[in-house]
Amino acid sequence: MSPTDLKTAPAPSSDLASAGAILTVDLDAVAANYRQLQSYAPGAEVAGVVKANAYGLGLAPVVRTLADAGCKTFFVADATEGVALRAALPEATIYVTNGLAANAAGAYRGHGLRPCLASLGEIKDWRREAKAAGRRLPAALHFDTGMSRLGLIGEEAALVLADRSRLDGIEVSLVMSHLACSDEAGHPLNARQLARFKTIRAAFPGTPASFANSSGILLGPEYHFDLVRPGYGLYGGTPFEGKPNPFRPTVKAEARVLQVRDVAEGETAGYGATWEAKGVRRLAVLSVGYADGYFRRLSSSAGGGRVWLGGQYAPVAGRVSMDLLIVDATGIPEGKVRRGDLAELIGPHVSLDEVANRAGTIGYEVLTSLGERYKRLYTGKTAAAAES
Ligand SMILES: *Cc1c(COP(=O)(O)O)cnc(C)c1O
Repeated sequence: MSPTDLKTAPAPSSDLASAGAILTVDLDAVAANYRQLQSYAPGAEVAGVVKANAYGLGLAPVVRTLADAGCKTFFVADATEGVALRAALPEATIYVTNGLAANAAGAYRGHGLRPCLASLGEIKDWRREAKAAGRRLPAALHFDTGMSRLGLIGEEAALVLADRSRLDGIEVSLVMSHLACSDEAGHPLNARQLARFKTIRAAFPGTPASFANSSGILLGPEYHFDLVRPGYGLYGGTPFEGKPNPFRPTVKAEARVLQVRDVAEGETAGYGATWEAKGVRRLAVLSVGYADGYFRRLSSSAGGGRVWLGGQYAPVAGRVSMDLLIVDATGIPEGKVRRGDLAELIGPHVSLDEVANRAGTIGYEVLTSLGERYKRLYTGKTAAAAES
């Protein structure tokens, strides 16, 4: 069967032409989302959570954009991310949410990273480092109020609360906890965690407190305290599932059409021959696959993704391959889909939420799975400085 060809689409600018998939990040939208979050929590400092390469958008351009919008405090997951952030923003206050890694206190101090101390062992290590430094070292104290993940809890928390000399040498610059169910406004654990956190913060008068992530901010002013820690909202994620999204989308993902072909009735497409043509169909083959984070769960026999192509939706046909995606472009007028065209995977017609729902996951995972092969483009006021 020969590909029905196909005049070539107008050539895009040279190095873009060779990109199989393109990710366009709207930095103005990131800045607008930052300001939006600030308007929700007018009394609090709005920090930026930029772990996992700023949720896949690209650390340096995102943090420069946030700094430009007034953000001074940042949270990363581990010290490696902290070192990269320090290089991009020498003046920033940087917290490491995963705490103090074993035998790494010297590196944290060397790069001016503040661990979110989560156990007596971490506290001990940081105190030892402070002693070696001959000065108090800043850190957050992370309390677990209901997540059973990281944070001081139970006896350890009680010991720290009862005997402050256990913190000698540490400048506690933040007392924090993290919500487990903030995306479900009515979940009873929210109020329970809030009550626990209020008790803890009362034991640290004068120390800034931080509790809310993006959806936590939308739970209301009680949850704001002194510093809020949004991540997902900055990147345009929907804070409450099933509710309208107050944030601006920040990413558009597109994949190149490699080939368009007509297949006869009864022909199958892709691995496992899970899709069969019911009548003559026109298929478009796109340059993207599960290695790029286009989840295999979007195969037509599973969640069934769809892309926007030639002015209409084209559903996934068959299984998502590692590097290729077949979509059913039947009905798209002749000449409207050509080799070299771009299909929208995520964007104005295919929302992040839609992709996540169809893939059986959350938008966080969709964003942080966007692979290395995307050519990343940045638009907006801070984009020129970001291109690198
Ligand atoms: C990831 C994370 C955040 C940000 O959460 P979002 O839901 O993305 O806003 C805040 N605090 C901690 C401790 C985190 O791990």
